[in-house]
Amino acid sequence: MKYIYDLDIDDLEKLMININEKKYRAKQLFEWLYRKRISSFFEMTNLNKNLINYLSDNFIIELIKEEQVLISNDGTKKYLFKLSDNNVIETVLMKYEHGYSVCVSSQVGCNMGCLFCASGKLKKVRDLSAGEIVMQILYIQKELDLIDERISNVVVMGIGEPFDNYDNVIKFIQIINHDIGLAIGARHISVSTCGLLDKINKFSKLNLQVNLAVSLHSAIDKKRNEIMPINYRYNLNELKECLLNYQLKTNRRITFEYILLKGFNDKVEDVLAIKKFLKGLNAYINIIPFNDINDKRFKSIKRNDCYYFYQKLKDENINVTIRKDFGNDIAAACGQLRAKKEEMS
Ligand code: SAH
Repeated sequence: MKYIYDLDIDDLEKLMININEKKYRAKQLFEWLYRKRISSFFEMTNLNKNLINYLSDNFIIELIKEEQVLISNDGTKKYLFKLSDNNVIETVLMKYEHGYSVCVSSQVGCNMGCLFCASGKLKKVRDLSAGEIVMQILYIQKELDLIDERISNVVVMGIGEPFDNYDNVIKFIQIINHDIGLAIGARHISVSTCGLLDKINKFSKLNLQVNLAVSLHSAIDKKRNEIMPINYRYNLNELKECLLNYQLKTNRRITFEYILLKGFNDKVEDVLAIKKFLKGLNAYINIIPFNDINDKRFKSIKRNDCYYFYQKLKDENINVTIRKDFGNDIAAACGQLRAKKEEMS
């Protein structure tokens, strides 16, 4: 059986036509799922009995199961969700002054093999379906409903490489963005990629207002090769050309994530390389303090080192922010996924 959350509005309309129901039933169903957020098909009072029986015979409406929740002193919540095949994924809820933000996973594991990343140590088991990503949001939104709050921001920055699961991630975005459902604005959704250029090209043609974040981590090919195998496939020149095109089409500012690794990518040559790389792009650098993953190659970094590097970039007139860790006290159990927040701008 399939999750009902795997179907977007077009799929639901096709389904209704296939089973000789009126097409508008799809919208009613979608509203029940995402606006009224009911938990059983039998609560859908404006649908006929036959349709309700058909749906409950053919689709699962129960959400993914909560395996464990870690709550930080600052209110950050990290959820471990169990999928129907017993795989476990992570989702993080962060509270900002301006609302709630959720970081979702897009795959079970990841094949990109970035050296500094805990997720990459476990190879990809499988992609998540669109519905499995949607359920991470819906589960948390239903909890927030109890205190009359709503999710205002979504970042696809959890476990996995979203563009290695492109179709499902786009479908996920379309489902949570739809205005008769959760209606999370496109400008409030961000997708982070290590740089799969064919998918960035595809993404730029979608005409979505979704934010794109790119994991840069070094603007020097030799260094980026060392920590991000994707750089062998697409080097920095190719990445930049692709992003210039992306901006021509979308006119949207790009975020570059830059994990500061002490003694590795924090030198003067790195500052200059970043400056050169950013030339012509409308973008900013978001410094991420390296989150220790018990790997001897990289040492954890002090905040002061981040401020120092931040200042060096500022001195070169580069737009830069530092991400502050959220939920420090639960991060030890988090592996790679840590909730973060932009602190400075
Ligand atoms: N695969 C995507 C999205 C998942 S990772 C990508 O590469 O962008 C989300 C962000 O967390 C990326 O910028 C990633 O480089 C960063 N990250 C991974 N491991 C980290 C660590 N140990 N400390 C801090 N940030 C990390």
